[in-house]
Amino acid sequence: MFDPSLITGTLVHYYVTCRREAWLYSRRIHADQWDENIMMGKALAEIKEEQLSQFPFSNLKFDRIGKQRGHYLVTEYKKTMKNPEGAKMQLLFYMWQLKTSLKLKEINGKVISGKKVLFVEGSAENIAKMEALIAEISAFLERPEAPPFHEIPFCKKCGYRDYCL
Ligand code: SF4
Repeated sequence: MFDPSLITGTLVHYYVTCRREAWLYSRRIHADQWDENIMMGKALAEIKEEQLSQFPFSNLKFDRIGKQRGHYLVTEYKKTMKNPEGAKMQLLFYMWQLKTSLKLKEINGKVISGKKVLFVEGSAENIAKMEALIAEISAFLERPEAPPFHEIPFCKKCGYRDYCL
């Protein structure tokens, strides 16, 4: 079985967006590093880095964590929100990791992209959903080959499009 400890927030996002993308990424076949979207994402990440709270956990790369009315709030900034479900599950992955590692009682999150704000509740239901998703991703990544290419709307802005199309 694929080692679940190797799963990252990015991988979760990719899996929710396109399973083929997640498989390619898991095999270290990296997307076009000169892709405009990837370059903008990197530039954004570098600007924020100085303001980030550093956390001593592997696979965690969210933007900010703070306390609000007695509970923890994780914030993730995104250049675009082309897939809100992917953004939500990526953040929920970080929340799940923090909650289980630090045994936090309550943790919530929000994803900010321009004027759009997406709240992610750290409810027991959502945490269970994340645990089920991690098991599903681990099982999926066992497959020896990438799933076949099917064009989807996300292909237009995907860094793997030169590889797939
Ligand atoms: S180009 Fe399309 S099919 Fe290929 S990895 Fe990207 S989203 Fe998936």
